[in-house]
Amino acid sequence: MMDFSLETIRKLEAEFGNPLYVLDESSFIQNYRAFETALKRQYPKYQLSYSFKTNYTPYICSLVKKLGGYAEVVSGFEYELAKRVGFAGKAIVFNGPNKGEDGLKALLEGCILNVDNLDELDAVCRRAKQFPSGSFEIGLRVNLDVGQSFLSRFGMDPEDLTRAFAIVKGVPNLRVAGLHCHISRCRGLDAWRRRSEIMLDLSDRFFPNDPPKFIDLGSGMFGKMDPAFAAQFDLVPSYEDYAAVTAKLFSDHYSGYAEDQKPILLTEPGTTLINKYIDFLGRIDAIKTIKGKSFAILNCSEHNLGETCTLKKLPVKVIPAGGRSEHFTNADLVGYTCLEQDVMYQGYTGSLGLGDYVQFGNVGGYSNVYKPPFIWPNCAMIVKKESGEYLEIKRAESFEDLLGTYVI
Ligand SMILES: *Cc1c(COP(=O)(O)O)cnc(C)c1O
Repeated sequence: MMDFSLETIRKLEAEFGNPLYVLDESSFIQNYRAFETALKRQYPKYQLSYSFKTNYTPYICSLVKKLGGYAEVVSGFEYELAKRVGFAGKAIVFNGPNKGEDGLKALLEGCILNVDNLDELDAVCRRAKQFPSGSFEIGLRVNLDVGQSFLSRFGMDPEDLTRAFAIVKGVPNLRVAGLHCHISRCRGLDAWRRRSEIMLDLSDRFFPNDPPKFIDLGSGMFGKMDPAFAAQFDLVPSYEDYAAVTAKLFSDHYSGYAEDQKPILLTEPGTTLINKYIDFLGRIDAIKTIKGKSFAILNCSEHNLGETCTLKKLPVKVIPAGGRSEHFTNADLVGYTCLEQDVMYQGYTGSLGLGDYVQFGNVGGYSNVYKPPFIWPNCAMIVKKESGEYLEIKRAESFEDLLGTYVI
């Protein structure tokens, strides 16, 4: 987590309000480079593609572009954002099970379109035939079974995959250039090794002459974490560990090929890149005890922080504001909503006082982009630049931002 003095927090509150998201730019960049380096060291033809849905704050997307990343989008809305941020069509990976007309338009603009099912493929073929002078490339999303405990609904079963290749053969100006997969809730090394092996096998099978242009392994690696947070998960591998069961396998598998024949290896990190690099500042506005259980009521909600705070104990720091404070055992830090389950931190033990500030860590993913318009608009986000200067990158939402689409 970042270090804030009371003085800084007060200054930030006066300028940008409280609560507040704070992006740590230099640490984000450092982590991006560490991740990319670990994979490129094993397989130089690695290309990172940032998952917009994890946190599409335009400033962050822009940083990724500057660092040489691609955009990974799953809707026309996210595709539009990628274009506005300045990503070229060929630097946008367009995934998702229902892209609609937007996917077909993006195909014409040269994006990397990964087709999820045969009905989508049918629409792609029809579009390609409408433009006989153009030539189009797609990827096919593979349905994954890496031994997970659930059936994934994404991608194509092997039988459909075989049919898809046959269908594309019948369209002269369309070609399958690569394979894609992604599965969530499988962050361990064994699952990643299995994923790599499956994709390499399928590539050999469906591209018997030359390797495909790209193989996209999707996302789902753990990022860096503070030790107390990491201890709540099973073993958290390092980026080098992940590279050893992905990029290294690619490097071995394609060692007999010239560099320009080897496929590009893509992955699509979201959480891994951003989670640790946004902190959240809130304030204790009331404290009460009911039947011996204490509650500190904050000016924010689990909706600001995202779901992780309800499943794990986020890294947390209380910054005393100098008023009267007391020692509490097993107090809950709770939100402004009227939901019983709006608990941002369960069982806090330590000093708490009225007006104290609370800093939560690891709230970069699925937080501000996942905040419903429920009860209260969202707060601002600022970035701490390398120079130490703070800039607003998202203003606080207003009444009009939330109600503008309704008839009043
Ligand atoms: C959600 C998603 C990602 C990013 O997942 P994280 O766990 O946030 O890293 C990448 N690719 C696809 C296809 C996704 O659906």
